[in-house]
Amino acid sequence: MTSLLFKDITVLTEEGKTVPHAYVGVTDSTISHFQLTQPEDAFDRVIDGRGKLLMPALYNAHAHVPMTLLRGRGDNLPLDRWLNEAIFPFEVHITEDATYHATLLGIAEMLRFGVVSFTDMYFCTDARARAVLDSGVKCNLSDCVVCSEPGMTYYDLPLAKENEQWIAQYHGAGDGRLLIDMSLHAEYTSTPEVVRTLADATKAAGLRMQVHVSETQKEVQECIERHGKTPPVYLADLGLFDVPTTADHCVWLTDEDRSVLAEKDVFVACCPASNAKLGSGIADIKAMKAAGITLTLGTDGVASNNNHNMFQDLYLLALMQRASDANPVSLSAEELITIATRNGALSQGRVDCGRMQVGSRADLTMLDIDTPWMQPVHTMAENLIYSAQGSDVVLTMVDGTILYENGEYLTIDIEKEIAETCAARERILSEMA
Ligand SMILES: [Zn+2]
Repeated sequence: MTSLLFKDITVLTEEGKTVPHAYVGVTDSTISHFQLTQPEDAFDRVIDGRGKLLMPALYNAHAHVPMTLLRGRGDNLPLDRWLNEAIFPFEVHITEDATYHATLLGIAEMLRFGVVSFTDMYFCTDARARAVLDSGVKCNLSDCVVCSEPGMTYYDLPLAKENEQWIAQYHGAGDGRLLIDMSLHAEYTSTPEVVRTLADATKAAGLRMQVHVSETQKEVQECIERHGKTPPVYLADLGLFDVPTTADHCVWLTDEDRSVLAEKDVFVACCPASNAKLGSGIADIKAMKAAGITLTLGTDGVASNNNHNMFQDLYLLALMQRASDANPVSLSAEELITIATRNGALSQGRVDCGRMQVGSRADLTMLDIDTPWMQPVHTMAENLIYSAQGSDVVLTMVDGTILYENGEYLTIDIEKEIAETCAARERILSEMA
């Protein structure tokens, strides 16, 4: 048994409530104490919480983490040209080995910014799974279906067999830290037969779904031309949302789309930085909230962000809605904190995660708040959204184990992973030349 006490620390809960001078104990993988007086139990380690803020760690609800290899590649292009001209030609050269190192680098970046878990859609699944298990983070991992060939079904794809193998090998591995999801890249890279059969296979396997939905106006227009329906209605009609689903982006929705997503209990992963950088638009988070949709937050890949700093995404999510509405009334700072913590955990099916509660998994992050930009404090939740920097994070803990503390990565050789990822990028560029 291992135990740790955060002593006399300011706590911010997943609901954005501030609890000053708190004592939070962690025993093995769970939060064992959360109280205002010092526990009588002895702890292996005591961390002095003065000048620090402890909160549930962040859950990144949409990412393509190996894209650290492509950080910032293809600027000033709209989504379709960016994918076809800058991204896909590079990605065909990505190997399992490059993916392993690039994933570890992306995980290090997330830990540095207080992220403990990510929902990932990419390929080279063995390499990503090894990186997740070796580093100690949490992940809902999916290998996305891309198939526009008429007559083909999901079951005809090599991925169908591979998914069976990965489910057997990895689903629930690392004490449940690693979960396998299914995913569809998008309506525009698939056919109705593929979507319908993928939906059936996901239901049969009892898994969750990840899918890009209505990211650009062009995607929506072309979907209506092809199928006479918007992407959410089309995908819902084919049964894709009959399992717990995270729909990524959802920038261009109609009232009917929002009703469908709410009725199907689909989680929406907002990706404000990526949507802004690619000029895709601004998701209407106020309208989605009003429709009853549960919102989460994602960084997307770092080719279009260009980082996994979720504090930056939180800031943008809050401000872009207000700017586009020309109205300061939007989601509260407290609601935004819930989006990045508890809602993210729920979207991954992790009901015992993402909250500051005795008995919950100890996924925590600690920030230095004794800084010029975090003092004084009128409302801590407001300061966290509008003043805090991702680099204020000084500790990130997953299931009670510290993985990042004061500049040190406890499970990742950071110099090695930077060098390996940069070398892989050079190799790929020389192969493309
Ligand atoms: Zn994406």
